[in-house]
This record gives sequence, C-alpha cells and structure tokens, in this order.
Amino acid sequence: MEKTPETRTWRVLNLEIKIDEPESALRAAACRVAGIDRDALRGMRIARKSLDARRRGGERRLRFVYHVDLVVEGRFSSVVFESAVRSGKVREAPETGSLDVEKLPHRSGLRVVVVGAGPGGMYAATVLSRAGVQVDLVDRGGSLESRGTDLVAFHRTRAPNPESNLLFGEGGAGTYSDGKLYSRVDHPLEVACLEELVECGAPAEIVYDSRAHIGTDRLHRILPLFRERLAEHGVRFHWNCRMEGLEIDPGAPARVTAVRTSLGHLPCDAVLMAPGHSARDTWERLLRDGVELQAKPFQLGVRIEHPQELIDRGRYGDVALAKQLGVSAYNLVFKGGSGCAPAHSFCMCPGGRIVASINQAGELCTNGMSNAAHSSGRANAAIVTTFGPREFGDGALDGVLFQRGLEKSFFEAGGSDYTAPAQTASDFLARRETPDPGRTTYTFGVCSGRIDELLPQRARDAIAAALVRFDRTIPGFAGPEGILVGLESRSSGPVRVVREPDTRTARGFSNLYPVGEGAGYAGGIMSAALDGADSAFAFLES
Ligand SMILES: Cc1cc2nc3c(=O)[nH]c(=O)nc-3n(C[C@H](O)[C@H](O)[C@H](O)COP(=O)(O)OP(=O)(O)OC[C@H]3O[C@@H](n4cnc5c(N)ncnc54)[C@H](O)[C@@H]3O)c2cc1C
Repeated sequence: MEKTPETRTWRVLNLEIKIDEPESALRAAACRVAGIDRDALRGMRIARKSLDARRRGGERRLRFVYHVDLVVEGRFSSVVFESAVRSGKVREAPETGSLDVEKLPHRSGLRVVVVGAGPGGMYAATVLSRAGVQVDLVDRGGSLESRGTDLVAFHRTRAPNPESNLLFGEGGAGTYSDGKLYSRVDHPLEVACLEELVECGAPAEIVYDSRAHIGTDRLHRILPLFRERLAEHGVRFHWNCRMEGLEIDPGAPARVTAVRTSLGHLPCDAVLMAPGHSARDTWERLLRDGVELQAKPFQLGVRIEHPQELIDRGRYGDVALAKQLGVSAYNLVFKGGSGCAPAHSFCMCPGGRIVASINQAGELCTNGMSNAAHSSGRANAAIVTTFGPREFGDGALDGVLFQRGLEKSFFEAGGSDYTAPAQTASDFLARRETPDPGRTTYTFGVCSGRIDELLPQRARDAIAAALVRFDRTIPGFAGPEGILVGLESRSSGPVRVVREPDTRTARGFSNLYPVGEGAGYAGGIMSAALDGADSAFAFLES
C-alpha cells in the first residue's frame, strides 16, 4: 500500500486581494477557498503575485492576484477541499528542482568549456561546477569592470569595441537591462535559479512577483557575487577570449576534443555553446565546422517612448497610485487582422532609458534598460512583429543578412554616428515627418527620421495597426507624446542551431550542446538560464 506523505503542498490559484489590503490577509483567504483547516496547515508561501489593471465592462478594478502554496498534513481532506480540487481552484503544487551540491549527480574528472558568460552560460557553469566538473568559462567580452570602461569609451568616442560592449562581456546581453526575470514557463528549476540571485543580494520577491525585475544598478552588485560563487566551485574565467573554432574528431556522431580560442587551445570532454543572439561571426564559424544551423523567425520593429505619467494614467487611472504600486508597465498585444500581421509590445522598461544595443560598427539597433528605482520619468518598450524565412529567405544566415541591411539603413538615416531616427507616433500614422522629435532618453540622441519609410512595409502596417489598438487601452499611446525610435531588431535571434530533442546535443555531435538565445532556444534572461541549466543536466546524465 502507498504510504501517505507527511505533508503535501497544494497551490491555491487566483486569489484576489484589494490593492490596499495587507498581504497577511492571504493565509485566511487561501485556507477558506481551499477548505483547509488552519490546524492542518504546516506552512505557506507565495508562488505568484501579479497586478491586474485590466478594465472590465468599462470599470477599472485594480487588484493583486496571487497563487499561494499551502503545505498541509498529508492525510487532510474535507468536502470543500475536494470540491476546490475538482473545480481547478486548487491543484497539487508542481515539483521544484534544486541546484544544491548535495542534490546534484557527482562527475569529477571531466572538463567542459562553456562559451558565453550570459545567463545561459553562467547557469550551465553553476550546475556543472557544483557537480564536480572542471569548467572553463570563455567570453569574448570583458569582466564587468572592464566592460563598463569599454562602454564609457563607446559613449565618448562613438566607436564601439566589437568584442566588449553592451551585448558582449560578463553577464551577457542582459547586464545592462531592466533585469526582468519572468520566463512564462512553469519550469521545475525556475525557483532554484531565482534563489541563486536572491542569495547574491536580489530582493526576495523576485521569486514570485510576476513583474519581478532587478535593474541594471542592482544587477551590477549581484554579478560579482555570482562570479565569486562560481570561482569557489573551481570555474576558471577567460575574459577577452573569443571562441574561434572547434577541434573535431570526425565520426558518427562527431566529437569535439578542444576549443580554439583567441588565447589558445582548451581541450575538453564537452562544449556548451551559449553565444547569444548577436555573435554573427560565431555562427559563421560553427557552419564552417559542420554544425547544422537553420534560419528562424525573429522580432522586428521599433522602440516607443512616452512620459511615464501617460502610462500610469492609462494603467491606473490615477497617476498618484504609482507612488503606492510602483510605476506601471504594460504588455500589449494586437492579434492582427485586415491584412496586417500581429504585433506586440516587448521588453517594457518603466522609468528606464533607450540604449544602443550593438556590437558592430555601422549598424544601429535599440533596446531598453532601467535601474531598480525606475526613476527616469520615461517609459519605453519595443513594438515588434515577426519576420520569418518567408520574408527573408531560408538560407541559415539569411535572417542575419536581412537584419544587417535594416540596421545599416537606420544607422545611415541617423547620420552615421549612432544618433537614432525618431518620429512621433501620430506622424508615423499620418505618414509625415516629425521636424523636431524632441528629447528622448536614447543615449546617443535622436534626429528627425522617416521610420514609416525605413521599415519594411509589412512591419510598418502591423505596427501602425497595433498603435491604434493600443491607444484604446492607454489613451495617448499613439499620440504626439509617443516617440518611435528605431530600429529594434534583436529582441530575438534569427538563427537556430539544430539540436537533438532528447540529448540536447547539436545534430551529428555527441558532446556539443548549443544553448540559450544564440542557439535559438530561449528569449530572455530566465529562459536562457533555464536552457543552460537543462543542457548541463543533460550532459551530467549522458
Ligand atoms: C539592452 C537589453 C535589455 C534586455 N532586457 C531584458 C530583460 O529585462 N529581461 C529579459 O528577460 N531579457 C532581457 N534582454 C534579453 C536577454 O538579455 C537575453 O535574452 C539573454 O541575455 C540571453 O542569454 P544568453 O546566455 O543566451 O546569451 P547572452 O546573454 O547574449 O550572452 C552571450 C555571451 O556570449 C559571448 N560570446 C559570443 N560569441 C562568443 C565567442 N565566439 N567566444 C566567446 N564568447 C562569445 C558574448 O560576449 C556574451 O557575453 C535584454 C537584452 C538587451 C540587449
């Protein structure tokens, strides 16, 4: 007979509390909805918290929505509880994984090279090193400290360092970001990965807050501690060290025996390749080494910036609420129609800044970042639509060629010094020039530019239809206070490295593990981190 466990954890879903109600009200509410006797309760934790600012029937009713996990005596049952489970209000909480040394399989005597110190590479290194594997972590960019110096020099001289920049270096592409941490997947390792950051100084609520973000300034205090913890487990860091090729023992499957880098050879038993979405030369290198790559769809569009108050008014109804709830964010979707492709907002940075997200000279691409306080007074986000091989060709690097052509045309339209073309949303819709787009937070400044003409027609039409739709949710969104700044072309990568679904190795290779955004299997900090951790586990189990 199966033994009843001492305790079981039940998740109570969608508990609503008013924005001025204290969180302490949750315990009683969760027990009531789940029909759980307080005497049977052994513990409680918040699994998810989100703010619902949607209007219903024209009425705005702001409230927090929680999922709450209740640890309950194994034998507990009641009529209300059984009915709550049947109706789906309550379900067993998902299993959670662990990154603790004691809980990992032990594999000493193996040596793995991890290429890329972004979230994909860092979390892969975390898992491998705690399992006793000797890890060499290689990144073409600098450590946090020297990367900062390289960026300051870029802003001063307007000449980017192609090796160490906003995309390349310790922490990867998200090091200068809003540090949003949601993966939108229920992954068993998600909580464990987030707890690593909490142990390095991130606020505890990142584990459950659906709007969790760290902010660039805080991230820069966390990363050195993360690095220290990796070093404690023997990880060797190789900064300013570019992967230039693989030594391959041909066979079926082929086996990588060493990684060639700008600083010499690194022999290894396996390679975890996490180069991010902008390592275009690395993809070329991998193709030459016989790794199979495919073109994949990616997001293309513009950044839009507004006064933060315009967004707060649209989301909260009352700008004063931003003091109580924090400045507001949005996540808007236009499903397409009337011949227009779908479009959506992405990577929204409340109280943030627009940055030049590039690694190569002569190309222009924007993205957003913010500090923990979200205090710039301006809100920005990408408005993007999807382009796929149908639009740009199905050769492995056709998407890259297409991206580069557009980035070059925006660069030139801005005067070839990283000034970005800008146009108000209302002029974009009216298809006319904005003589003076005013000031934005974009680091290198903006100038008047015909974004409506620079974008491919398909993107222009989708974004125009989306702006009109979003203006209904946030009044003024598509008005003269909304400033479009372009181009936004690297919200996701245009290439996928083909990998075997069961072993997670590159097709035709026994020990090459492509991971993260550059491999085409992640989009965002958390999803890249989880992909890296999963592939590290796949290697340990192989
Ligand atoms: C400005 C900005 C803001 C963002 N904001 C957010 C956000 O708020 N939330 C979110 O979830 N996501 C955000 N993103 C996206 C997020 O940063 C990426 O999805 C994530 O970093 C991808 O992780 P990764 O490990 O796959 O690759 P990356 O983080 O891109 O790391 C790849 C690393 O590989 C190195 N590399 C490349 N080629 C080589 C080579 N040949 N040899 C050695 N090293 C190499 C690079 O130097 C780089 O450090 C943002 C991105 C940017 C640019």
